[in-house]
Amino acid sequence: MGRIKLHDKEFDIYLSEETIQQKVRDLAAAINKDYADKHPLFIAILNGSFMFAADLFKHLTIPAEISFIKLASYKGMKSSGQVITAIGLDVELHGRDVIIVEDIVDTGKTLHNFLPKLQHHQPASLRIASLLNKPEATQFPLDIAYTGFVIPDKFVVGYGLDYDGLGRNLKEIYQLAGA
Ligand code: 5GP
Repeated sequence: MGRIKLHDKEFDIYLSEETIQQKVRDLAAAINKDYADKHPLFIAILNGSFMFAADLFKHLTIPAEISFIKLASYKGMKSSGQVITAIGLDVELHGRDVIIVEDIVDTGKTLHNFLPKLQHHQPASLRIASLLNKPEATQFPLDIAYTGFVIPDKFVVGYGLDYDGLGRNLKEIYQLAGA
């Protein structure tokens, strides 16, 4: 299935299931090594990261915990800046080795706004694992410790990522056709 249609748009296959799964295993192996004597807490950001987080977690051999949160952004009453709040953040972060699990870092704005909120809880360490990264789109540089694939600035769907609600169930990752 090289080309698919979701709503009004066509998408071409970009990363196969096998390519993604191999990368997820590699990322898990790196984390197992780096956190060999630790007990990290993974915080997966919904919705897009659910599939990546589940597959990554299956390949961990260290003692690890996971919690899922949703980020909501709204305009603050006083400032014009975007305020990000976490829904479902019910774990104590103080002193923990925290790894944020993201599907994709695009402009970097979401995590750039959210990380200070997590730092406020004084975790022992805080790192980011993102399956995809679009450096050409970056406006808010972030230090991403674990990156799966560096991709061009084109809209992608599949493996948890959606286009207007559809496509999250796909095992592969697809790129907007002709973009
Ligand atoms: P950022 O704040 O880094 O600009 O945006 C991050 C969020 O935007 C991601 O977690 C994801 O939900 C959404 N996003 C960015 N690029 C894409 C893309 O190519 N495809 C899809 N489906 N979502 C994207």
